[in-house]
Amino acid sequence: QAKGQGRNTWQWYRGQRVEKNRQTLALRQDLYTALKEQQFEMHYQPLVDSLSGRLRSVEALVRWRHPSRGMVSPCEFIPLAEQTGQIIPLGRWILQQACRDMVDFSARTGHDLPVAVNISSLQFLRDGFLEDVKHTLAESGLSPMLLELEVTESVLLDGAEPVIELMQTLKAKGIRVALDDFGTGFSSLSYLRDLPTHRVKLDRSFIQAIETDHRMAAIVQAVITMAHNMDMSVVAEGIESLELQQDLARRHCDLLQGNYFARPMSLADLKVLPSLLPGNRSA
Ligand code: C2E
Ligand code: MG
Ligand code: MG
Ligand code: MG
Repeated sequence: QAKGQGRNTWQWYRGQRVEKNRQTLALRQDLYTALKEQQFEMHYQPLVDSLSGRLRSVEALVRWRHPSRGMVSPCEFIPLAEQTGQIIPLGRWILQQACRDMVDFSARTGHDLPVAVNISSLQFLRDGFLEDVKHTLAESGLSPMLLELEVTESVLLDGAEPVIELMQTLKAKGIRVALDDFGTGFSSLSYLRDLPTHRVKLDRSFIQAIETDHRMAAIVQAVITMAHNMDMSVVAEGIESLELQQDLARRHCDLLQGNYFARPMSLADLKVLPSLLPGNRSA
């Protein structure tokens, strides 16, 4: 009897897995037409000064409005796009759209707003990436000073030299590079010595743990201090409360990003966003 139940449970799990695989395959297939059919859109999430609450820049985040499944999370489809190679044309479109949108934002509001664009490691390391960036800037008319690229430690998996070289070239052109999801990968810290990055971003999983986990708080504090000593600034992601905002401001974290200030939003909503978001302590 117990044996029979075990088998049923096993079959249930197996059924779930088969169903999940089927959905993944279908989604991967749908990616091929999604770009042509204009199912992607860009949203923008504010980054604010930790002390004043002033809008300092935005992060561009892609969204997929799937015709039958509704909004699909980038956590779900970016890895699929990386597997199929679709990340190359998709990544190019993301960069173009973000640059055009920021030019539009400046024209409508009279304010220049820096934009951080997530770049997949595959896209960053591919021959021709630098040309793509230069071409996109020229075509959109966005100042290179307003573009920041976000990469993760996984760009270093096949060796640091080409990465350092590319980052130096980008820097010489005025384009800055931030290290995203800092600390969540498996890299050693020593690579930081040679990488010409200007900013590190602390993942939401680190930030949201500091209120209950004093060891995590120590890591966050150490990263902030280390980054400052290396002339880098620090962004904390995932700020969802006033308490967390105040805690990070006390720790001298430079910029904050999170639903407490604003969720990712359309360009239209960004254009009418007040420059001062909640969390202004000096008012
Ligand atoms: P990421 O680059 O670390 O982006 C930050 C993620 O944290 C975003 O999720 C953002 O919406 C979320 N977030 C920020 N503050 C809060 C908060 O207070 N609470 C909660 N619950 N979430 C918050 P999103 O947009 O779902 O993106 C997830 C990941 O997908 C990104 O992580 C990035 O790795 C990838 N991604 C998103 N857009 C792009 C893109 O345009 N290109 C590439 N290559 N990857 C992208
Ligand atoms: Mg990012
Ligand atoms: Mg991040
Ligand atoms: Mg993250």
